[in-house]
Amino acid sequence: VNKSEIKLENTYITLPKEFYSQQLPWEVPSPEMVIWNNALATELGLNLDFFLQPQGSEVLAGNKIIEGTTPIAQAYAGHQFGYFTMLGDGRAVLLGEYVTSKGERFDIQLKGSGRTPYSRGGDGKATLGPMLREYIISEAMKGLGIPTTRSLAVVTTGESVLRETGLPGAILVRMAKSHIRVGTFEYANRMLNKEALKALADYTLERHYKEGKTEDQPYVYLLQEVVKRQARLISQWQLVGFIHGVMNTDNMTISGETIDYGPCAFMNRYKPETVFSSIDTSGRYSYQNQPKMAAWNLARFAEALLPLLANSQEEAVQIAQTEIDQFSTLYRTFWYKGMREKLGLFHFVNGDEQLIEELLRIMLKYRADYTNTFRDLTLDLKTQSELMDSEEFEKWYGLWQKRRKEQNESLEESKTLMENRNPIVIPRNERVEEALERAVEHKDYSAVEDLVSAVSHPFAYNNRNEYYETPSDLHDCGYKTYCG
Ligand code: AMP
Ligand code: MG
Ligand code: MG
Repeated sequence: VNKSEIKLENTYITLPKEFYSQQLPWEVPSPEMVIWNNALATELGLNLDFFLQPQGSEVLAGNKIIEGTTPIAQAYAGHQFGYFTMLGDGRAVLLGEYVTSKGERFDIQLKGSGRTPYSRGGDGKATLGPMLREYIISEAMKGLGIPTTRSLAVVTTGESVLRETGLPGAILVRMAKSHIRVGTFEYANRMLNKEALKALADYTLERHYKEGKTEDQPYVYLLQEVVKRQARLISQWQLVGFIHGVMNTDNMTISGETIDYGPCAFMNRYKPETVFSSIDTSGRYSYQNQPKMAAWNLARFAEALLPLLANSQEEAVQIAQTEIDQFSTLYRTFWYKGMREKLGLFHFVNGDEQLIEELLRIMLKYRADYTNTFRDLTLDLKTQSELMDSEEFEKWYGLWQKRRKEQNESLEESKTLMENRNPIVIPRNERVEEALERAVEHKDYSAVEDLVSAVSHPFAYNNRNEYYETPSDLHDCGYKTYCG
C-alpha cells in the first residue's frame, strides 16, 4: 500500500536489534472490519477515506503493509504472578508509529496477527470475544478520563481459532503512546547489557519524559516520574472500581497508560477482596491489592534501572529505595483527593479521611453497589436501600452534609464536582457479556456499538438511559473473566 495513505515511522528499530524481531503479520483469509472507532480516527487525523475502504481493512488485518515500513514484534520479559520469565509479543505486531499533526506519536499494533519468534507454544491468534472486550473496556476507561491504550478497530479474520472449541478469529488494532513495559526494562537489564539498557532508557526519555533529558540525573527522574504516573493511574482505577486482573510487570507501561485488557472487570458491590480473573486463584491481583502490586512492579522497574542510577551499587539501591518509598504516599494523596471530590469536597479538612473510611466501611457492611452509591449521593437518590436505610448511614450522611455546607463553594458547585467524578455508567459485567454474546454468536454488533457509545460518556447525567439501571445481579462472586 502506498505510503501516501498513511505515514508510519519506525523509531523503535533504532534500538539494539535484541529489542525486536522483524515480523510481518500473517495473512488472513477474509478480513472484515466489524468495529471502527471513528471518533478516535478523527481525533488523530487518520485518513478516514482510506481506512473505510477494503484496502484499509486489508492493512488493519495485516494482509497488506504500508510501503517503507518495518513491522516488528517487541521483545520483553516480565514477572508473571511473581515469577520472572522471558516473553515478547507472542501474538502482536507493531506496524509502526503514527505521528499526529500535533506531533503526538502512537504505536499502531495488531493484536492477534499470528505467530512471532516470541510465541512459544501459542498460535499467535486472538478470538473475537476478548478483542471486543478490550475494545469496550479501553474505550470506557478513556471516557472515564483514565490513561489507556485505545482501540481503533476490530477486524474478524475469517479463520476459526481453536481454543476449547473453534472460535472466530479476530485482530484488535491497538493504539498506544508506546508499548514499552516494565518488562522491557527487566529484559534489557537481565538478558542484555548496560549499553542496551541505557539505549532503552534514553529512547524512553525522548519519547515520554523529554523534559527529563536535561535533568542532572535523567534516569532517577525517569524512575520518579514513572512512579508518579503509576500512583496516579492506580488511584484512578481504585476510584472507579476497576480491576485489571493481570498486573504482571509485562502489563505495566512506562507511559502510564493502562494496557492489556484481559480478565479485567469493574466491581459491582464494594468488596475489597474482589477478584474476577479465573487464573488468579490466590487473589494476588484483587481490587484491594492493586496499589501494593503496582509498588511491587515498580520495585522491579527500579531494580532493572539500578546500573543507571548511580556509579556504586550501594548508592543506586539507596536511590531506588527512596523513589519506591514515594509510591504509597503519592498513591494515598491521589486517592484521598479523588475520594474527596467524589463526595463533592474541594479542599482537605481534618477528619476527611475518617469520613471517607466510614462510608467505605458501611458500604462494605451493607453490600452496596460501588458506582451507584456515589451516583445516589450525587443525585440524592436512595437505590442502595440496605445501606441507606441504616442508622449508620443516616449518621454519616449528617456529617457529610454538614461538611459540604461548611466549605466556601456552594452545594450546587459541589454537586457539579460530583457529577464530574462519579460515573453514572460503567461497563457492567452482564452488559458486556450480553453484547459479546450477540456479536460472537449472531454476528450482531449493535449491542457492542450501543454499549461503547454509552460507556464513552460515563458522566452524562443529563442524558440518562437504560445503561444506568442497576444490574439485576450484583454478585461478583460467580463472575469469571478469562484471557484471550
Ligand atoms: P497477556 O496475558 O495477554 O499479557 O500475554 C502474556 C504473554 O503471552 C505475552 O507475551 C503474549 O504475547 C503471550 N500470548 C498470549 N496469547 C498468546 C497466543 N495465543 N499465542 C502466542 N502468544 C500468546
Ligand atoms: Mg500482556
Ligand atoms: Mg497480550
